[in-house]
Amino acid sequence: MEAEERRICRKCLIQDMPSEYFETMREYIRHLDPEIKTEQREYERRLALCRECESLMEGMCRICGCYVEMRAAIRARRCPGTENRW
Ligand code: SF4
Repeated sequence: MEAEERRICRKCLIQDMPSEYFETMREYIRHLDPEIKTEQREYERRLALCRECESLMEGMCRICGCYVEMRAAIRARRCPGTENRW
């Protein structure tokens, strides 16, 4: 019997992963207080930059250990990379 191959998607965000795994996190982001939440267009801009970044691994930033969608959803948070992409 062949061993099941584990697929790793370096450029995936949790929004691309099976919904049951991360639904709680997505729910949390959806219900963030608008006072602290990143505006939608800026949120999407941040995530597009993460998708292009070598530090993204399965939805997580390898520099800070955060899920990037969680980090990007808070307006005051910044990219922790040396290039400060957002
Ligand atoms: S270093 Fe910045 S751009 Fe790269 S994955 Fe982390 S948060 Fe995203």
